[in-house]
Amino acid sequence: MWVRTWVMRAAELITEHREYLIGLDRAIGDADHGENLDRGFRAVVTYLKTTEDTRAEDLLRGIGQTLISHVGGTSGPLYGSAFIRMADVATDELTPVSLATMLDRAVGAIQARGHAQAGEKTMVDVWLPVADAVNNAVDNEAELATMAELIERTSQAATQRTCDMIATKGRASYLGERTLGHIDPGAASTNLIFLALRECVN
Ligand code: ADP
Ligand code: MG
Repeated sequence: MWVRTWVMRAAELITEHREYLIGLDRAIGDADHGENLDRGFRAVVTYLKTTEDTRAEDLLRGIGQTLISHVGGTSGPLYGSAFIRMADVATDELTPVSLATMLDRAVGAIQARGHAQAGEKTMVDVWLPVADAVNNAVDNEAELATMAELIERTSQAATQRTCDMIATKGRASYLGERTLGHIDPGAASTNLIFLALRECVN
């Protein structure tokens, strides 16, 4: 089941990059992002190992609920609601169309909750371009293998671009121009989630 493969791999990457994410959040926030997410994704791994859920829809909802209850900080409810809203349109067999629809829902959920627009140096600056790229690829009738490569390329570039942005949302916004030159921690963790997705879409 692709949801399991995706999120188990994402959890691995988050744990591997725990200190990196802490460092990014130390520079422009309160240094808890790596710890928050690692705790949340370890709870998700426990959920995945113990649940009897097998359908994509149920798994994504369970993952979202687990993230909401175990990730502290602003990012927990944002990630949690993204997964819960993806559940509404998820299919057991991953297709380009369902993937595109899911990513749109995720962006919608994150923006509904956090009210961030593009360019405000948040996780939206990665979710949004990846969702757009995947939707454009669907319009051009791309296959899943093409999507995988596109997700990685778009996500990596978008994450790097947050370096040149000034934060105007969330805790980092208090630092204003001093956020220039730093990658946004939530963008970096979103990138890890997309790198994991890329591996299982492939
Ligand atoms: P906190 O800021 O409460 O310590 P985290 O450190 O867990 O929360 O997460 C910080 C990340 O959350 C930021 O790097 C940013 O990507 C994301 N974020 C903060 N505010 C918003 C928002 N309004 N919309 C989208 N993402 C946001
Ligand atoms: Mg923080």
